[in-house]
Amino acid sequence: MGLTGLEIYKHLPKTNCKDCGSPTCLAFAMALASGKASLDACPHVTEEAKAALDSAAAPPIKLVKVGTGDQVVELGDETELFRHDKRFFHPTGIAVLISDGEDVAAKAEKFEALEFDRVGLHYVTDMVAVKCDSGDAAKFKAAVETVAGKTKKALILIAEDPAIMEAALEVVADRKPLIYAATAGNYEQMTALAKAKECPLAVRGDDLASTAELVDKVVALGYKELVIDSGARETSKVLADLTQIRRQAIRKKFRSFGYPTIAFTSKESPQEEIVQAGVYVSKYASIVVMKAAEKQQLLPLLSWRQNLYTDPQKPIAVEPKLYSIGEVTPDSPVYCTTNFSLTYFIVEGEVESSRIPSYILSVDTGGISVLTAYADNKFTAETISAAMKKAALEEKVNHRKIVIPGYVAVLKGALEEASGWEVLVGPREAAGIPKFAKETFA
Ligand code: SF4
Repeated sequence: MGLTGLEIYKHLPKTNCKDCGSPTCLAFAMALASGKASLDACPHVTEEAKAALDSAAAPPIKLVKVGTGDQVVELGDETELFRHDKRFFHPTGIAVLISDGEDVAAKAEKFEALEFDRVGLHYVTDMVAVKCDSGDAAKFKAAVETVAGKTKKALILIAEDPAIMEAALEVVADRKPLIYAATAGNYEQMTALAKAKECPLAVRGDDLASTAELVDKVVALGYKELVIDSGARETSKVLADLTQIRRQAIRKKFRSFGYPTIAFTSKESPQEEIVQAGVYVSKYASIVVMKAAEKQQLLPLLSWRQNLYTDPQKPIAVEPKLYSIGEVTPDSPVYCTTNFSLTYFIVEGEVESSRIPSYILSVDTGGISVLTAYADNKFTAETISAAMKKAALEEKVNHRKIVIPGYVAVLKGALEEASGWEVLVGPREAAGIPKFAKETFA
Protein backbone atom coordinates (compact mmCIF):
# COMPACT_ATOMS: atom_id res chain seq x y z
CA MET A 1 0.00 0.00 0.00
CA GLY A 2 1.33 3.49 -0.81
CA LEU A 3 2.21 6.12 1.78
CA THR A 4 -0.22 8.88 2.69
CA GLY A 5 0.59 12.53 2.07
CA LEU A 6 1.33 13.13 5.76
CA GLU A 7 3.65 10.12 5.93
CA ILE A 8 5.55 11.42 2.91
CA TYR A 9 5.65 14.94 4.36
CA LYS A 10 7.60 13.66 7.39
CA HIS A 11 10.51 12.77 5.06
CA LEU A 12 10.62 16.07 3.13
CA PRO A 13 12.90 19.02 4.07
CA LYS A 14 9.91 21.20 5.18
CA THR A 15 11.55 24.43 3.94
CA ASN A 16 8.69 25.35 1.56
CA CYS A 17 11.30 26.62 -0.92
CA LYS A 18 8.95 25.99 -3.93
CA ASP A 19 11.78 24.61 -6.10
CA CYS A 20 9.58 21.61 -6.92
CA GLY A 21 6.84 23.83 -8.33
CA SER A 22 4.50 23.21 -5.37
CA PRO A 23 3.79 26.09 -2.98
CA THR A 24 4.69 24.05 0.11
CA CYS A 25 6.34 20.76 1.06
CA LEU A 26 2.91 19.54 2.24
CA ALA A 27 1.32 20.31 -1.12
CA PHE A 28 4.16 18.44 -2.83
CA ALA A 29 3.68 15.47 -0.47
CA MET A 30 -0.02 15.37 -1.32
CA ALA A 31 0.73 15.51 -5.06
CA LEU A 32 3.28 12.71 -4.64
CA ALA A 33 0.81 10.54 -2.73
CA SER A 34 -1.79 10.91 -5.47
CA GLY A 35 0.72 10.09 -8.19
CA LYS A 36 0.57 13.61 -9.67
CA ALA A 37 4.22 14.47 -8.93
CA SER A 38 7.58 12.75 -9.07
CA LEU A 39 10.03 12.74 -6.16
CA ASP A 40 12.74 13.85 -8.59
CA ALA A 41 11.10 17.29 -8.66
CA CYS A 42 12.46 18.04 -5.17
CA PRO A 43 16.23 18.61 -5.47
CA HIS A 44 16.70 18.78 -1.69
CA VAL A 45 15.41 15.39 -0.60
CA THR A 46 18.09 13.25 1.09
CA GLU A 47 19.15 9.76 -0.03
CA GLU A 48 17.73 8.31 3.20
CA ALA A 49 14.40 9.96 2.54
CA LYS A 50 14.48 8.75 -1.07
CA ALA A 51 14.93 5.18 0.10
CA ALA A 52 12.10 5.58 2.61
CA LEU A 53 9.84 7.10 -0.03
CA ASP A 54 10.59 4.55 -2.69
CA SER A 55 7.11 3.07 -2.70
CA ALA A 56 5.43 6.46 -2.85
CA ALA A 57 7.73 7.69 -5.60
CA ALA A 58 7.39 4.59 -7.77
CA PRO A 59 4.80 4.79 -10.56
CA PRO A 60 1.55 3.02 -9.65
CA ILE A 61 2.10 0.54 -12.49
CA LYS A 62 5.67 -0.48 -13.24
CA LEU A 63 7.10 0.02 -16.72
CA VAL A 64 8.11 -3.39 -18.09
CA LYS A 65 9.80 -3.93 -21.46
CA VAL A 66 9.54 -6.99 -23.69
CA GLY A 67 11.92 -7.35 -26.63
CA THR A 68 14.95 -5.34 -27.61
CA GLY A 69 16.05 -2.48 -29.85
CA ASP A 70 13.43 -0.77 -31.99
CA GLN A 71 11.03 -3.72 -31.54
CA VAL A 72 10.78 -3.31 -27.80
CA VAL A 73 7.21 -3.24 -26.46
CA GLU A 74 6.79 -1.02 -23.42
CA LEU A 75 4.03 -2.05 -21.04
CA GLY A 76 2.43 -0.46 -18.00
CA ASP A 77 3.52 2.88 -16.50
CA GLU A 78 -0.08 4.05 -16.73
CA THR A 79 -1.45 6.62 -14.32
CA GLU A 80 -5.14 6.90 -15.22
CA LEU A 81 -8.28 4.85 -14.89
CA PHE A 82 -10.08 6.96 -17.46
CA ARG A 83 -8.52 8.18 -20.67
CA HIS A 84 -10.19 11.60 -20.53
CA ASP A 85 -8.53 12.38 -17.17
CA LYS A 86 -5.18 12.68 -18.96
CA ARG A 87 -4.33 9.93 -21.45
CA PHE A 88 -3.22 6.31 -21.71
CA PHE A 89 0.46 6.01 -22.57
CA HIS A 90 1.51 2.52 -23.63
CA PRO A 91 -0.76 0.88 -26.20
CA THR A 92 -1.81 -2.71 -25.58
CA GLY A 93 0.63 -5.09 -27.25
CA ILE A 94 -1.27 -7.25 -29.71
CA ALA A 95 0.28 -10.73 -29.83
CA VAL A 96 -0.56 -13.40 -32.38
CA LEU A 97 -0.48 -16.95 -31.01
CA ILE A 98 1.50 -19.67 -32.80
CA SER A 99 1.37 -23.24 -31.51
CA ASP A 100 4.38 -25.51 -31.94
CA GLY A 101 1.84 -28.02 -33.27
CA GLU A 102 0.93 -25.99 -36.38
CA ASP A 103 2.83 -24.85 -39.46
CA VAL A 104 5.03 -22.44 -37.52
CA ALA A 105 6.90 -20.94 -40.48
CA ALA A 106 3.71 -20.25 -42.46
CA LYS A 107 1.96 -18.53 -39.55
CA ALA A 108 5.08 -16.49 -38.68
CA GLU A 109 5.24 -15.28 -42.30
CA LYS A 110 1.57 -14.37 -42.16
CA PHE A 111 2.23 -12.43 -38.94
CA GLU A 112 5.06 -10.48 -40.56
CA ALA A 113 2.71 -9.34 -43.31
CA LEU A 114 0.27 -7.79 -40.82
CA GLU A 115 0.86 -4.11 -41.51
CA PHE A 116 -1.79 -1.53 -42.27
CA ASP A 117 -1.91 2.08 -43.41
CA ARG A 118 -5.01 3.99 -42.37
CA VAL A 119 -5.69 7.74 -42.24
CA GLY A 120 -1.98 8.44 -42.57
CA LEU A 121 -1.03 6.12 -39.72
CA HIS A 122 0.90 2.87 -39.87
CA TYR A 123 -0.47 0.01 -37.75
CA VAL A 124 1.37 -3.18 -36.89
CA THR A 125 0.89 -6.14 -34.59
CA ASP A 126 3.62 -6.10 -31.97
CA MET A 127 4.35 -9.54 -30.63
CA VAL A 128 4.34 -13.26 -31.38
CA ALA A 129 3.39 -15.69 -28.64
CA VAL A 130 4.85 -19.15 -29.26
CA LYS A 131 3.06 -21.83 -27.28
CA CYS A 132 4.30 -25.29 -26.36
CA ASP A 133 1.36 -27.62 -27.04
CA SER A 134 3.57 -30.59 -27.85
CA GLY A 135 5.14 -31.00 -24.41
CA ASP A 136 8.38 -31.65 -26.31
CA ALA A 137 11.33 -29.38 -25.45
CA ALA A 138 13.13 -29.98 -28.76
CA LYS A 139 10.00 -29.27 -30.81
CA PHE A 140 9.21 -26.11 -28.88
CA LYS A 141 12.79 -24.90 -29.14
CA ALA A 142 12.73 -25.48 -32.92
CA ALA A 143 9.41 -23.60 -33.22
CA VAL A 144 10.79 -20.67 -31.24
CA GLU A 145 13.93 -20.65 -33.39
CA THR A 146 11.84 -20.65 -36.58
CA VAL A 147 9.67 -17.76 -35.38
CA ALA A 148 12.72 -15.79 -34.23
CA GLY A 149 14.22 -16.25 -37.69
CA LYS A 150 11.08 -14.94 -39.40
CA THR A 151 10.40 -11.85 -37.30
CA LYS A 152 12.31 -9.33 -35.22
CA LYS A 153 9.18 -8.49 -33.21
CA ALA A 154 8.98 -9.10 -29.46
CA LEU A 155 8.36 -12.69 -28.36
CA ILE A 156 6.28 -14.37 -25.67
CA LEU A 157 7.23 -17.94 -24.79
CA ILE A 158 4.38 -20.01 -23.37
CA ALA A 159 5.40 -23.18 -21.53
CA GLU A 160 4.88 -24.15 -17.93
CA ASP A 161 7.64 -26.73 -17.64
CA PRO A 162 10.79 -24.84 -16.59
CA ALA A 163 13.00 -27.36 -18.46
CA ILE A 164 11.13 -26.70 -21.73
CA MET A 165 11.32 -22.94 -21.14
CA GLU A 166 15.05 -23.17 -20.44
CA ALA A 167 15.60 -25.03 -23.73
CA ALA A 168 13.78 -22.30 -25.71
CA LEU A 169 15.61 -19.53 -23.89
CA GLU A 170 18.90 -21.00 -25.08
CA VAL A 171 18.07 -19.66 -28.55
CA VAL A 172 16.20 -16.41 -27.84
CA ALA A 173 17.13 -15.14 -24.35
CA ASP A 174 19.02 -12.22 -25.94
CA ARG A 175 15.69 -11.09 -27.51
CA LYS A 176 14.32 -10.59 -23.97
CA PRO A 177 11.08 -12.52 -24.51
CA LEU A 178 8.28 -12.55 -21.96
CA ILE A 179 8.42 -15.85 -20.09
CA TYR A 180 4.89 -17.20 -19.53
CA ALA A 181 4.22 -18.24 -16.84
CA ALA A 182 5.25 -18.55 -13.23
CA THR A 183 2.52 -20.44 -11.38
CA ALA A 184 2.09 -21.72 -7.84
CA GLY A 185 3.76 -24.95 -8.91
CA ASN A 186 6.83 -23.62 -10.75
CA TYR A 187 7.45 -20.04 -9.66
CA GLU A 188 10.80 -20.68 -7.98
CA GLN A 189 12.36 -22.24 -11.09
CA MET A 190 10.70 -19.76 -13.47
CA THR A 191 11.81 -16.79 -11.38
CA ALA A 192 15.37 -18.18 -11.29
CA LEU A 193 15.28 -18.52 -15.09
CA ALA A 194 13.91 -15.01 -15.60
CA LYS A 195 16.53 -13.55 -13.26
CA ALA A 196 19.38 -15.45 -14.87
CA LYS A 197 18.34 -14.44 -18.40
CA GLU A 198 17.09 -10.97 -17.39
CA CYS A 199 13.79 -11.56 -19.15
CA PRO A 200 10.37 -10.29 -18.03
CA LEU A 201 8.20 -12.89 -16.34
CA ALA A 202 4.44 -13.39 -16.42
CA VAL A 203 2.86 -14.51 -13.13
CA ARG A 204 -0.43 -16.42 -13.32
CA GLY A 205 -2.70 -17.09 -10.37
CA ASP A 206 -6.08 -18.80 -10.19
CA ASP A 207 -7.93 -15.66 -9.11
CA LEU A 208 -7.10 -12.16 -7.90
CA ALA A 209 -6.15 -13.17 -4.36
CA SER A 210 -3.84 -16.02 -5.40
CA THR A 211 -2.32 -13.81 -8.12
CA ALA A 212 -1.44 -11.11 -5.56
CA GLU A 213 0.03 -13.76 -3.27
CA LEU A 214 2.12 -15.23 -6.06
CA VAL A 215 3.38 -11.80 -7.17
CA ASP A 216 4.54 -11.15 -3.59
CA LYS A 217 6.38 -14.49 -3.53
CA VAL A 218 8.18 -13.71 -6.79
CA VAL A 219 9.05 -10.20 -5.58
CA ALA A 220 10.39 -11.74 -2.36
CA LEU A 221 12.73 -13.80 -4.55
CA GLY A 222 14.12 -10.50 -5.80
CA TYR A 223 12.42 -10.11 -9.18
CA LYS A 224 10.11 -7.29 -10.25
CA GLU A 225 10.04 -7.37 -14.07
CA LEU A 226 6.58 -8.85 -13.98
CA VAL A 227 3.40 -9.06 -16.01
CA ILE A 228 0.31 -10.41 -14.27
CA ASP A 229 -2.51 -12.71 -15.31
CA SER A 230 -5.39 -13.43 -12.93
CA GLY A 231 -6.02 -16.72 -14.75
CA ALA A 232 -9.56 -15.79 -15.85
CA ARG A 233 -10.57 -16.61 -19.44
CA GLU A 234 -14.30 -15.82 -19.54
CA THR A 235 -14.84 -12.32 -20.95
CA SER A 236 -16.79 -10.74 -18.07
CA LYS A 237 -14.45 -12.25 -15.46
CA VAL A 238 -11.33 -11.08 -17.30
CA LEU A 239 -12.82 -7.60 -17.62
CA ALA A 240 -13.70 -7.52 -13.91
CA ASP A 241 -10.22 -8.72 -12.92
CA LEU A 242 -8.37 -6.30 -15.22
CA THR A 243 -10.50 -3.45 -13.87
CA GLN A 244 -9.82 -4.43 -10.25
CA ILE A 245 -6.09 -4.78 -10.88
CA ARG A 246 -5.91 -1.32 -12.49
CA ARG A 247 -8.14 0.28 -9.86
CA GLN A 248 -6.22 -1.21 -6.93
CA ALA A 249 -2.87 -0.24 -8.46
CA ILE A 250 -3.80 3.35 -9.24
CA ARG A 251 -6.32 4.32 -6.57
CA LYS A 252 -4.92 2.29 -3.66
CA LYS A 253 -1.30 1.94 -4.77
CA PHE A 254 -1.60 -1.76 -4.02
CA ARG A 255 1.90 -2.87 -4.95
CA SER A 256 1.05 -6.49 -5.71
CA PHE A 257 -1.04 -5.28 -8.65
CA GLY A 258 1.35 -2.53 -9.74
CA TYR A 259 2.42 -4.37 -12.93
CA PRO A 260 1.26 -4.60 -16.53
CA THR A 261 -1.30 -7.30 -17.35
CA ILE A 262 -1.76 -9.98 -19.98
CA ALA A 263 -5.06 -11.42 -21.26
CA PHE A 264 -5.86 -14.28 -23.63
CA THR A 265 -8.85 -14.48 -25.94
CA SER A 266 -10.92 -17.66 -25.69
CA LYS A 267 -13.55 -17.24 -28.42
CA GLU A 268 -13.30 -19.51 -31.45
CA SER A 269 -15.24 -17.40 -33.94
CA PRO A 270 -12.92 -14.69 -35.38
CA GLN A 271 -15.62 -12.02 -35.06
CA GLU A 272 -16.28 -12.87 -31.42
CA GLU A 273 -12.57 -13.06 -30.74
CA ILE A 274 -12.02 -9.53 -32.06
CA VAL A 275 -14.87 -8.19 -29.92
CA GLN A 276 -13.43 -9.99 -26.90
CA ALA A 277 -9.96 -8.58 -27.60
CA GLY A 278 -11.51 -5.12 -28.04
CA VAL A 279 -12.96 -5.39 -24.52
CA TYR A 280 -9.52 -6.24 -23.10
CA VAL A 281 -7.80 -3.45 -25.05
CA SER A 282 -10.38 -1.02 -23.65
CA LYS A 283 -9.95 -2.14 -20.04
CA TYR A 284 -7.02 -2.55 -19.33
CA ALA A 285 -4.86 -5.32 -20.76
CA SER A 286 -1.23 -4.43 -21.46
CA ILE A 287 -0.97 -7.45 -23.79
CA VAL A 288 -3.72 -9.37 -25.57
CA VAL A 289 -2.77 -12.77 -27.00
CA MET A 290 -5.06 -13.92 -29.80
CA LYS A 291 -5.38 -16.53 -32.50
CA ALA A 292 -6.64 -14.28 -35.32
CA ALA A 293 -4.00 -13.48 -37.89
CA GLU A 294 -6.06 -12.19 -40.81
CA LYS A 295 -5.80 -8.56 -41.85
CA GLN A 296 -9.55 -8.03 -42.03
CA GLN A 297 -9.89 -9.36 -38.48
CA LEU A 298 -7.11 -7.31 -36.94
CA LEU A 299 -7.62 -3.94 -38.63
CA PRO A 300 -10.71 -2.95 -36.56
CA LEU A 301 -8.93 -3.94 -33.35
CA LEU A 302 -5.80 -1.97 -34.22
CA SER A 303 -7.93 1.03 -35.20
CA TRP A 304 -9.74 0.83 -31.86
CA ARG A 305 -6.42 0.64 -30.02
CA GLN A 306 -5.13 3.63 -31.96
CA ASN A 307 -8.18 5.67 -31.01
CA LEU A 308 -7.85 4.80 -27.32
CA TYR A 309 -4.19 5.60 -27.06
CA THR A 310 -4.16 8.99 -28.77
CA ASP A 311 -4.00 12.03 -26.54
CA PRO A 312 -7.65 13.18 -26.22
CA GLN A 313 -6.43 16.76 -25.83
CA LYS A 314 -4.50 16.71 -29.11
CA PRO A 315 -6.52 16.26 -32.31
CA ILE A 316 -4.91 14.01 -34.88
CA ALA A 317 -3.71 16.26 -37.66
CA VAL A 318 -2.17 15.91 -41.09
CA GLU A 319 0.61 18.20 -42.23
CA PRO A 320 -0.94 21.46 -43.44
CA LYS A 321 0.18 21.73 -47.07
CA LEU A 322 -0.93 21.29 -50.67
CA TYR A 323 -1.58 17.64 -51.56
CA SER A 324 -1.71 16.29 -55.11
CA ILE A 325 -4.31 13.60 -55.74
CA GLY A 326 -3.54 11.80 -58.99
CA GLU A 327 -1.60 13.20 -61.97
CA VAL A 328 -2.33 16.87 -61.43
CA THR A 329 -1.85 19.54 -64.11
CA PRO A 330 -2.20 23.35 -64.04
CA ASP A 331 -5.87 22.83 -64.95
CA SER A 332 -6.62 20.60 -61.94
CA PRO A 333 -9.29 21.72 -59.48
CA VAL A 334 -8.25 22.92 -56.02
CA TYR A 335 -10.26 21.97 -52.93
CA CYS A 336 -9.53 23.31 -49.50
CA THR A 337 -10.26 21.82 -46.11
CA THR A 338 -8.79 21.74 -42.60
CA ASN A 339 -5.89 19.63 -41.39
CA PHE A 340 -8.05 17.49 -39.04
CA SER A 341 -6.91 14.07 -40.22
CA LEU A 342 -10.35 12.48 -40.32
CA THR A 343 -11.76 15.34 -42.40
CA TYR A 344 -8.73 15.42 -44.68
CA PHE A 345 -8.76 11.68 -45.42
CA ILE A 346 -12.51 11.61 -46.04
CA VAL A 347 -12.13 14.49 -48.50
CA GLU A 348 -9.11 12.79 -50.07
CA GLY A 349 -11.09 9.55 -50.54
CA GLU A 350 -13.97 11.36 -52.23
CA VAL A 351 -11.66 13.41 -54.47
CA GLU A 352 -10.01 10.14 -55.53
CA SER A 353 -13.46 8.71 -56.25
CA SER A 354 -14.21 11.66 -58.55
CA ARG A 355 -11.39 10.37 -60.81
CA ILE A 356 -10.38 13.94 -61.61
CA PRO A 357 -6.77 14.65 -60.56
CA SER A 358 -7.02 17.50 -58.06
CA TYR A 359 -5.18 19.47 -55.41
CA ILE A 360 -6.31 19.56 -51.79
CA LEU A 361 -5.11 22.49 -49.72
CA SER A 362 -5.03 21.42 -46.08
CA VAL A 363 -5.20 24.58 -43.95
CA ASP A 364 -3.59 24.58 -40.51
CA THR A 365 -6.49 24.73 -38.03
CA GLY A 366 -4.63 22.97 -35.22
CA GLY A 367 -6.18 19.68 -36.29
CA ILE A 368 -9.83 20.62 -35.78
CA SER A 369 -12.73 20.10 -38.16
CA VAL A 370 -14.30 22.62 -40.54
CA LEU A 371 -17.17 24.01 -38.47
CA THR A 372 -15.25 23.95 -35.19
CA ALA A 373 -12.32 25.71 -36.84
CA TYR A 374 -14.65 28.28 -38.40
CA ALA A 375 -16.27 28.94 -35.01
CA ASP A 376 -12.81 29.26 -33.46
CA ASN A 377 -11.61 31.71 -36.15
CA LYS A 378 -9.04 29.23 -37.45
CA PHE A 379 -10.70 28.55 -40.80
CA THR A 380 -11.30 32.04 -42.13
CA ALA A 381 -10.77 34.00 -45.34
CA GLU A 382 -7.45 35.18 -43.92
CA THR A 383 -6.12 31.75 -42.87
CA ILE A 384 -7.18 30.12 -46.15
CA SER A 385 -5.73 32.97 -48.19
CA ALA A 386 -2.45 32.76 -46.22
CA ALA A 387 -2.31 28.99 -46.81
CA MET A 388 -2.89 29.55 -50.55
CA LYS A 389 0.05 31.96 -50.69
CA LYS A 390 2.29 29.67 -48.63
CA ALA A 391 1.54 26.76 -50.97
CA ALA A 392 2.35 29.00 -53.98
CA LEU A 393 -0.95 27.97 -55.58
CA GLU A 394 -0.69 30.72 -58.21
CA GLU A 395 2.41 29.07 -59.64
CA LYS A 396 0.81 25.62 -59.74
CA VAL A 397 -2.55 26.26 -61.38
CA ASN A 398 -3.69 28.61 -64.11
CA HIS A 399 -7.37 29.00 -63.32
CA ARG A 400 -7.50 30.90 -59.98
CA LYS A 401 -10.51 28.97 -58.67
CA ILE A 402 -10.76 27.27 -55.28
CA VAL A 403 -13.51 25.10 -53.78
CA ILE A 404 -14.48 25.64 -50.15
CA PRO A 405 -16.65 23.28 -48.04
CA GLY A 406 -20.37 24.01 -48.28
CA TYR A 407 -20.59 24.43 -44.50
CA VAL A 408 -18.53 27.63 -44.73
CA ALA A 409 -20.25 29.07 -47.81
CA VAL A 410 -20.44 32.30 -45.83
CA LEU A 411 -16.67 32.75 -46.41
CA LYS A 412 -17.07 33.06 -50.20
CA GLY A 413 -17.15 36.85 -50.44
CA ALA A 414 -14.42 37.52 -47.89
CA LEU A 415 -12.12 34.89 -49.39
CA GLU A 416 -12.61 36.26 -52.92
CA GLU A 417 -11.65 39.67 -51.58
CA ALA A 418 -8.67 38.40 -49.58
CA SER A 419 -7.27 36.10 -52.30
CA GLY A 420 -8.46 37.60 -55.55
CA TRP A 421 -9.55 34.08 -56.62
CA GLU A 422 -12.99 32.89 -57.65
CA VAL A 423 -14.43 30.85 -54.79
CA LEU A 424 -16.70 27.90 -55.61
CA VAL A 425 -18.90 26.58 -52.83
CA GLY A 426 -18.60 22.81 -52.71
CA PRO A 427 -20.96 20.31 -51.12
CA ARG A 428 -21.56 20.34 -47.36
CA GLU A 429 -20.58 16.72 -46.97
CA ALA A 430 -17.50 15.20 -48.59
CA ALA A 431 -19.70 12.43 -49.99
CA GLY A 432 -21.06 14.99 -52.44
CA ILE A 433 -17.65 15.72 -53.99
CA PRO A 434 -17.76 13.16 -56.87
CA LYS A 435 -21.11 14.50 -58.10
CA PHE A 436 -19.98 18.11 -57.61
CA ALA A 437 -16.71 17.43 -59.47
CA LYS A 438 -18.49 15.74 -62.36
CA GLU A 439 -20.92 18.63 -62.74
CA THR A 440 -18.30 21.36 -62.32
CA PHE A 441 -15.01 20.10 -63.76
CA ALA A 442 -15.62 17.10 -66.04
S1 SF4 B 1 11.46 21.51 -3.46
FE1 SF4 B 1 11.45 20.06 -1.75
S2 SF4 B 1 11.95 21.35 0.00
FE2 SF4 B 1 11.30 22.73 -1.59
S3 SF4 B 1 9.05 23.01 -1.33
FE3 SF4 B 1 9.34 21.34 -2.75
S4 SF4 B 1 9.29 19.54 -1.45
FE4 SF4 B 1 9.72 21.25 -0.09
